[in-house]
Amino acid sequence: MCQLPRRLRHAETPKYRGLQSCNRNGAPLNGSVHDVAVIDIAGFVTDLKSHAVDHGFHVHDERHFVETYSLRQLWEVDLHPEEACNGPIDLHVSLEIDPRTLLSFEDVVLAMDDPDDDPPEGFTFPLVFTWTFPPLVHPPDLLVLATEVAGLGGVELPLEVSAIDSFHQVTDAPERSLTVVSRVPVSLANVYKGDNDPVCAVLDTCRNVSLNLLERVPFWIGDIH
Ligand SMILES: [Zn+2]
Ligand SMILES: [Zn+2]
Repeated sequence: MCQLPRRLRHAETPKYRGLQSCNRNGAPLNGSVHDVAVIDIAGFVTDLKSHAVDHGFHVHDERHFVETYSLRQLWEVDLHPEEACNGPIDLHVSLEIDPRTLLSFEDVVLAMDDPDDDPPEGFTFPLVFTWTFPPLVHPPDLLVLATEVAGLGGVELPLEVSAIDSFHQVTDAPERSLTVVSRVPVSLANVYKGDNDPVCAVLDTCRNVSLNLLERVPFWIGDIH
């Protein structure tokens, strides 16, 4: 189990509602632009990256998008297993933040009598893991692969396999690209409590899946015969 320090839940990050009520120079209209957020999403993503490193991944890139109208946010992190720094596996992780879910959760937490009480379950954001590979020369049987990886991921990390065939020229043979995807709900209650154990378990399973795939990919892409 990971022993990273527990994150402060009341980190000082600007709150959505604070941001919405600024004037154009960023000055608060209601005197609370730097109100205290109930949960710290940026901190969660930072924690996720340090856990990924602890669980045997390299973090190579990250991006953060905010839709200006809806305030929907997308955090993306590019990982791969330590053993595959120069390929052939990439693991793309994304966290999608629906501001309505975040605000509803904040409302419920702010209405709690004691802020140290356990917050309600049922508020989640999807954390999506996507494994990608170079174009496949000897693609595997998808049904067999799907069954085998499902066994590796278990209920904790439900894995789906999909493939796309593309043709550069109509006369060319198809080139198959494969993706393995898992969508895991992140409980806002756990983020609020600073409970990282579920994330640690998921990352451990991600690593097992990655190492298993890493053994198979060289054959698929024609590096070994
Ligand atoms: Zn690397
Ligand atoms: Zn961990």
